[in-house]
Amino acid sequence: FIMTNKYMYFVANWKMYGALSSLNTLNKVIKFSKSKDINKGRLIYCPPYTLISSFSKKFKNCQIGIGGQNCHEGENYGPYTGSVNAHMLKNIGAQFVIIGHSENRERGENDKLINLKIKSALRAKLKVIFCIGETLNQKKQKKTRSILSKQIKVGLNNIKNKSNIFIAYEPVWAIGSGFIPKSEDLFTTVQYIKSKFKVNFPKVLYGGSVNTQNITSLKEINNLDGFLIGGASQNAKKFIDIVKKTYT
Ligand code: PEP
Repeated sequence: FIMTNKYMYFVANWKMYGALSSLNTLNKVIKFSKSKDINKGRLIYCPPYTLISSFSKKFKNCQIGIGGQNCHEGENYGPYTGSVNAHMLKNIGAQFVIIGHSENRERGENDKLINLKIKSALRAKLKVIFCIGETLNQKKQKKTRSILSKQIKVGLNNIKNKSNIFIAYEPVWAIGSGFIPKSEDLFTTVQYIKSKFKVNFPKVLYGGSVNTQNITSLKEINNLDGFLIGGASQNAKKFIDIVKKTYT
């Protein structure tokens, strides 16, 4: 098995960063996306809501995907100040949406709400990047598997067709911390996640402190289908470097 032959996804999660001036930094990435360095993978940018429309215009003639970082669970317009639903994301050019990120779980999103959001996103014909992951405490208490199992079970409850769902395994303690799981732990956890799906198991991405250094060991974990990249993705050069290093 050669990692370089595998189709991989690289999802940039910009979180609450970025302004119109950030659009210039994308030129490098657009150029890279058209080079043969990346004929075996897909780049997907998830900027804040305010930039989705501009990003999608900017990426019109290339293969780079666009996604939102969350959505409201409602399917119709409604009196929900500050919210955006999946149809609205689709309408401005998004093809993907991140749902269940731990930064939003920390602010009160539970598995049931996440389930409603995922359903609404799938109905709007968005592909879902569904984040799951254990906290440091849960890890210490050896609850990682039971937590992941519950997040998957409740989060995907009553969703029959899972073909448009990616799972992003993001240990909460690895996000923004500079720490990543041990390779063998990551491999077995990803196998565990895949084992929860009897048929057509979803693509599984890893997220949490992926950078230009640790990618050389992360890329060896051959049951991964890609990476969700926060901090490092805001820098075009670093993001490109991570992709390049995955294939070399
Ligand atoms: C994330 O928040 O999805 C993430 C992976 O962040 P970072 O890469 O900055 O740890």
